[in-house]
Amino acid sequence: MSMQEKNYWATTVNSPVASSPQLPSFVDVAVIGGGFCGLSAARTLAKRGVNVAVFEAETFGWGASSRNGGMVLTGMKLSVPTLIKRYGREAVRKMYAASLESIDCVEQIVREENIDCDFSRCGHLEVACKQAHFDGYEESAALIQREFNHELRIIPKKELRNEIGSDIYFGGMVDETSAGLNPARYVSGLALAAQRAGACLCDHTRVEKVEATSFNGAHEFRVQTSRRAISAREVILASGAYTTEATPALRKKIIPIGSYIIATEVLPDPLARELSPRNRMIYDSKHFLYYYRLTPDKRMLFGGRAAFFPETENTVRQSAEILRRGMIGVYPQLRGRKVEFVWGGTLDFTLDVIPHSGKIDGMYFAAGFAGHGVAAATWFGVKLAGLICGDPNDIPFAGITFPAAPFGLRSGHTWALPLAGAWYKILDFLN
Ligand SMILES: Cc1cc2nc3c(=O)[nH]c(=O)nc-3n(C[C@H](O)[C@H](O)[C@H](O)COP(=O)(O)OP(=O)(O)OC[C@H]3O[C@@H](n4cnc5c(N)ncnc54)[C@H](O)[C@@H]3O)c2cc1C
Repeated sequence: MSMQEKNYWATTVNSPVASSPQLPSFVDVAVIGGGFCGLSAARTLAKRGVNVAVFEAETFGWGASSRNGGMVLTGMKLSVPTLIKRYGREAVRKMYAASLESIDCVEQIVREENIDCDFSRCGHLEVACKQAHFDGYEESAALIQREFNHELRIIPKKELRNEIGSDIYFGGMVDETSAGLNPARYVSGLALAAQRAGACLCDHTRVEKVEATSFNGAHEFRVQTSRRAISAREVILASGAYTTEATPALRKKIIPIGSYIIATEVLPDPLARELSPRNRMIYDSKHFLYYYRLTPDKRMLFGGRAAFFPETENTVRQSAEILRRGMIGVYPQLRGRKVEFVWGGTLDFTLDVIPHSGKIDGMYFAAGFAGHGVAAATWFGVKLAGLICGDPNDIPFAGITFPAAPFGLRSGHTWALPLAGAWYKILDFLN
């Protein structure tokens, strides 16, 4: 098969989730965005008897949720020492616990809803690109053990072949709690589960504007969609990196970062086993990282090469070659193996690289999951639904100020993306 510019995961989903036939004129809660976050919120709300509709501009899961690496990871994008320095021990203890809880949350949904998405607690392996990175692992693992009673295992370079069929790294660190899944199947299962619970799902329905109004003295929102306007008592913004000017206050706080993935042809079993003997979710220690794993049908899925513009045909094609070279740098064994798929997607970063949630212009939101959104977006969706139902706000990130872009990183309606890129490259260099 020659290389196709399409999302491999999408080819494993049998049929797209059908839209509900009618657009309601009033709902208790309107959710903008049909990815993990919006659909998980809708599922929880519907199960709790709330009248909820999800508006998705494209098809359910069309955004990052169907395109990602399918790594269901512990921890957060920032390292624990950095987080503790910023937010203090107590706050980070709760954040870390939330990261573990969010994996349980995905597992529970997969089991309860019987979602056929190859969820497996296969663990993750972080590999060190520099000796200094490896030297930090010991300290990091000890800190995580002490503070969170969570065990990570250090893998010295001489034992690394038990974990990965590559000799380029300085050692690794394994977390057995992390999991892997097929994200396209998971998001489509989540949509079906939300629908079964009674949520109204509207695809190809773009929200163009949201206005706060009042009706009989009670506050509500007028949500203008590409089909027609509807009223909602509450709104959840779950539009991730794809957030548009329809909700400008959120838009200006999210940094959209492109990431690309290739998938090889199906590999023979012995080769697949050599590359990843324990079938881990693997990523390296750089900010501009490579992340990779075997798919359930034994392709090598290799991602990275963050690019600071949304994906276009050109950037996707260029990325395929760059990633193929990167992959062969890690795994010379894959030289000569065909790359059959390449695709791109956009990640939702925030300026301080942690997730945020709360209310913005009176609407609930959660965003900034970066490379941890499979678990985090699912969990935040459940939590936002809980807040609407009157649960106490125990989200550990909730009280943290959500920074907007500093002068220079944003100009007018668009991000000065090369500058944002330069910022991450600097981080990489410093580490
Ligand atoms: C290439 C790539 C690899 C990744 N790998 C991993 C990984 O291995 N592990 C991990 O945990 N995370 C990973 N991530 C991140 C993860 O996929 C995201 O954080 C997560 O999917 C975000 O989910 P979401 O529901 O918030 O947003 P999305 O899934 O992006 O959904 C947002 C949806 O909102 C819709 N939308 C936006 N505006 C409007 C509007 N005005 N009206 C209607 N609809 C609208 C969009 O069409 C989109 O479908 C990766 C991301 C990418 C791109």
